[in-house]
Amino acid sequence: MKCPQCNIEMTPKTRHRINVNFCEACKGMWLEHQELDELEDEVFDFGEHDKGTLIFSSTPTAAKCPECNSILRKFKYRLYDLEMEFCENQHGYWLYEDEDTRVLELMKQEETRLKKNVKAEDKWAAMVRHMHSSSFFGNLRDRLR
Ligand SMILES: [Zn+2]
Ligand SMILES: [Zn+2]
Repeated sequence: MKCPQCNIEMTPKTRHRINVNFCEACKGMWLEHQELDELEDEVFDFGEHDKGTLIFSSTPTAAKCPECNSILRKFKYRLYDLEMEFCENQHGYWLYEDEDTRVLELMKQEETRLKKNVKAEDKWAAMVRHMHSSSFFGNLRDRLR
């Protein structure tokens, strides 16, 4: 699989318990669509009604999906103001250099603030599963119309 930004072959890597395709050149990573696991509410609580407000706008980018060659779209996940790119055909997500680490750091801060005994790594894994869920995609697609 080639990096959507630099077009060089990516290497499979496990980062913060998530399997990604990592680009050694730009240090970005591609998160493939995966089987949806049931979200454990105590790990990460995405209320049904909150989902709609999590996503702002999305704009087309110059990058293409490594699987289907569709233009990737950039969107802002309101949670921590994180900017990512995604394939509209549900193939996966592109994260820029160290974005996953940044999210983890913010989650750790939130953990301390809320005094929740959930590891940031588990939350991140839950968030990625959520991003790959059909409800998240459905919502994202609705927003683009
Ligand atoms: Zn790259
Ligand atoms: Zn695709």
